[in-house]
Amino acid sequence: MTPQPFCDILLEGLAPDGGLAVPVSLPRIEAQTLEAWRALDYAQLAAEVLAIFADDIPRDDLAALTRAAYAPEVFPSIAPVKPLRPGLSLLGLSEGPTLAFKDMAMQFLGQVFEYVLGRRGQVLNILGATSGDTGSAAEYALRGKRGVSVFMLSPHGRMSAFQRAQMYSLQDENIHNLALTGVFDECQDIVKSLAGDLEFKRRHHLGAVNSINWARIAAQVVYYFWGWLRATEHSGQQVSFAVPSGNFGNILAGHIARRMGLPIRRLVLATNENNVLDEFFRTGRYRPIPAAQTYATSSPSMDISRASNFERFVYDLVDQDAGRVSELWGELARTGEFDLSALKPLFTERYGFVSGVSSHADRLDTIRSVHRESGVLIDPHTADGVKVARDHIEDGIPMLVLETALPAKFAETIHEAIGQEPPVPEALQDLAGRDQRVEVMDCDVRQVADYIRRHALKA
Ligand SMILES: *Cc1c(COP(=O)(O)O)cnc(C)c1O
Repeated sequence: MTPQPFCDILLEGLAPDGGLAVPVSLPRIEAQTLEAWRALDYAQLAAEVLAIFADDIPRDDLAALTRAAYAPEVFPSIAPVKPLRPGLSLLGLSEGPTLAFKDMAMQFLGQVFEYVLGRRGQVLNILGATSGDTGSAAEYALRGKRGVSVFMLSPHGRMSAFQRAQMYSLQDENIHNLALTGVFDECQDIVKSLAGDLEFKRRHHLGAVNSINWARIAAQVVYYFWGWLRATEHSGQQVSFAVPSGNFGNILAGHIARRMGLPIRRLVLATNENNVLDEFFRTGRYRPIPAAQTYATSSPSMDISRASNFERFVYDLVDQDAGRVSELWGELARTGEFDLSALKPLFTERYGFVSGVSSHADRLDTIRSVHRESGVLIDPHTADGVKVARDHIEDGIPMLVLETALPAKFAETIHEAIGQEPPVPEALQDLAGRDQRVEVMDCDVRQVADYIRRHALKA
């Protein structure tokens, strides 16, 4: 297949054959280059790393985009390393407007969408479904941007009060919140059905920012480099990363950084009770569970049974043989599973992956013990990461746990763990009182289509 430029993939979402886009090749970043990057601030580092993937954007333009995305007004503090105990730290990825790590990639996406659409004189109507974090990160990144509108479907009455207030209080004209009287999967089905109607998709210039979006993965690679640079002093040193995982997007970016030569010792994958990926990394068997059997847990953003980015990792496991990947997914469709146990030595030895599971009781224990030992309050997802990270710490190798959300978003579980409410950042203290703007409608594809027809940006 002919390679596609970064900006085309950005607007299309998928590769031309309907599969997931992956880079044709990855350069190796030499120790000397890594050392030179120590002096850069986050926006400068992001421009260096993203230039590798987005070679169709002029360097000066890219630098301006990352400067805007990672400005102090957006991230008052950018990816700080917060020590918990010797050898174990958090990498703070949740300092952005929606208090979750998705802001790190989405803020760059907001800048690059506006830039590319402006240059091409095009418009894009982003259609998505959310159960919380993705929708708000997308809306905060795209609010007020020229040439792009957002239509975000959410399950009416099924998000936390905080998440509702976060999304529905946005008053920007290009942001459309549609609360459907159904569950998340039904919202997702409506998105799939409209995006799968190619005539409708083309006529209304529909786009997506879901977790398979390649530009999001690329932007996430940056903070692995940043974390390594902050946790080491010289080029020979290794660092391990622990990642609370759902759709496998966050940790996939770590895998890419490692393949580019970043000295990562282990990529520690943490799941909650929905442990499909832990089973895979322990046994080589991949057995996703049906959506209806997915547990609703106290780390809800990881309640995923079918990790949409996992295919990109399997592609590397089978030596980038796209035909073999289709065979495996064919087998999955027929039998509900596939077995790569023969390749198990590759998982850890070649690619550095290990995994573990964390339960509700583990989350509460971990939130409590981290708070007691270090005074740091962590959210339930980050707690899953810390729990599993502790089981994989090795002498002399710093372990960085990616902090994927701040505790303020999950007050109920925090209260259950420590008997206190989490602090709310100052900028959000009046959130609950702000006016909300949301369109409630039936879970009906025709009503949603009709709303989009009436409100979509026209070219
Ligand atoms: C999205 C999310 C995750 C899961 O990240 P993936 O990239 O889907 O693996 C974990 N924690 C939080 C708080 C999230 O919002």
